[in-house]
Amino acid sequence: MAAGTFGALLWLERRRPLRRNVESKLSRGARNLAVAIGGAIVTGLVERPVVERIARRVERERLGLVKQVRLPIWLEVPLAVALLDYTLYLWHYLTHKVPFLWRFHVVHHVDLDMDASTALRFHFAELIVSIPYRAAQVRLLGISPLALSAWQTLLFMSVIFHHSNLELSIEIERKLNRFVVTPRMHGIHHSIVKAESNSNWSSGFTVWDYLHGTLRRDVPQDEIVIGVPAYREPEAVTLEKITELPFVAQLSAWQLPEGVERIEKESRVTRKISSGESAYA
Ligand SMILES: [Zn+2]
Repeated sequence: MAAGTFGALLWLERRRPLRRNVESKLSRGARNLAVAIGGAIVTGLVERPVVERIARRVERERLGLVKQVRLPIWLEVPLAVALLDYTLYLWHYLTHKVPFLWRFHVVHHVDLDMDASTALRFHFAELIVSIPYRAAQVRLLGISPLALSAWQTLLFMSVIFHHSNLELSIEIERKLNRFVVTPRMHGIHHSIVKAESNSNWSSGFTVWDYLHGTLRRDVPQDEIVIGVPAYREPEAVTLEKITELPFVAQLSAWQLPEGVERIEKESRVTRKISSGESAYA
């Protein structure tokens, strides 16, 4: 089902693209696939065995928050999924705010375009670094193997959907976005403008951004430049460069190269006046 959804999204976003691409789709796709393979190896060999083992213990010994309250299964699983989704919101916030974590998460953000393949583009080291947090989520929240696999499936679907470059009608997007993260909402999170990127941290349900006041819907997609200011050149984001990126000295991410910032700001202002297109909120 996951592979089918991914394939369908790749086809749909080609037919109805939301944003214009900067790089060639083929070389970007190949690069993101290579990063994804590294991530899949870590997930399969390390993360899943570790986390699933903890979930089995949680089930056997009734450990953690959800298991302590003893709910019927139809209530336990949705509650567990919601708590995992909320604590992932917190983790995503930390990956941006803690310099050591941003060092890894930046690899996901330096993609110069965003589409379904970006959803798979997490550096293998970011996945390794996140294992203790994921283990703590499962152990402390009391996540059963059933709840864990339900969440993993929903999260995968959500992540490939909201990274996709699929243009939905504004009405449909608004309706969906009341509940779940949508492509326009997540596009704002991938903006090169720091204030825009510092919003929309949710990965599944929109409610967490809403509750924390971090929800932004006020930026039209045609004004968004995807990426991180310091890594705007295609030569800076080759497969080799992004693979070594967490382990080398990094540039100050939100600093545009000399002179570019002013031009960028001016063009944004004029575009805002001339286009008159409102955001989707
Ligand atoms: Zn992020």
